Amino acid sequence: MSENKILYEGKAKQLFATENEFELIQFFKDDATAFNKKKHEIINSKGVLNNLISENIFKYLGSKNIPNHFIKRLNEREQLIKKVEIIPIEVVVRNIAAGTFTQRFGIEEGKKLPETLIEFNLKDDEHDDPLISDEHIKVFKWANQLEINEIKLKALSINNHLTELFNSIDILLVDFKIEFGRTQSGNTKEIILADEISPDSCRLWDKKSNEKLDKDRFRRNLGGLIEAYKEVATRLGIDLSSI
Ligand code: UDP
Repeated sequence: MSENKILYEGKAKQLFATENEFELIQFFKDDATAFNKKKHEIINSKGVLNNLISENIFKYLGSKNIPNHFIKRLNEREQLIKKVEIIPIEVVVRNIAAGTFTQRFGIEEGKKLPETLIEFNLKDDEHDDPLISDEHIKVFKWANQLEINEIKLKALSINNHLTELFNSIDILLVDFKIEFGRTQSGNTKEIILADEISPDSCRLWDKKSNEKLDKDRFRRNLGGLIEAYKEVATRLGIDLSSI
């Protein structure tokens, strides 16, 4: 574990300072939580797998010209990332109805949405990450209209690239959550993809069997979470010989 100063501790990750004021270390824990921490378990190796999978996906998105915070993986559980000012919004992209969305609108799980839908939730555990609109974001100044437009465009582009990537390995990208942050490059502020993209933050279904290869295995007590994450990693071409 890093000996650097801890700056932030979330449910599944920690952030540490480095000697470089523009860079941080992101550490992936084995904690699995759901329903705003009402369900909590430690699942051995989950952090290692998410570190590898998120590295793979951020590198892939980088190669598709999606700017993001990933610099390099340091070891099993840590990656070096660019320091950003996190915009406190969870951006959820949905292709197929699942999870809380099905309950909210009474839609059957698995129904393809007529168009890709973007939703925003405030990052606020105390209030159960409430669903918010563009208007809330502007009124409370979490981001301005130009930034909201940029976030939506980036989220759709990320969805297109990820849908193609997962499609190529016989996985259906049902929905996912992403976060963005602001960086200063020279005089211009840029919005880049931050946080992680892993089976903790995506719904991934095997195209042939419809089997869930994501954190719903934990949320719904289906078992086999590590096997499912390993399956995703293997299909992405990640070498798991060290695990
Ligand atoms: N998600 C996430 N973190 C959260 C809430 C949701 O990564 O705090 C992801 C979740 O894994 C799914 C997508 O965002 O891929 C949509 O989740 P939903 O709103 O349906 O909530 P859930 O049913 O997961 O509580």
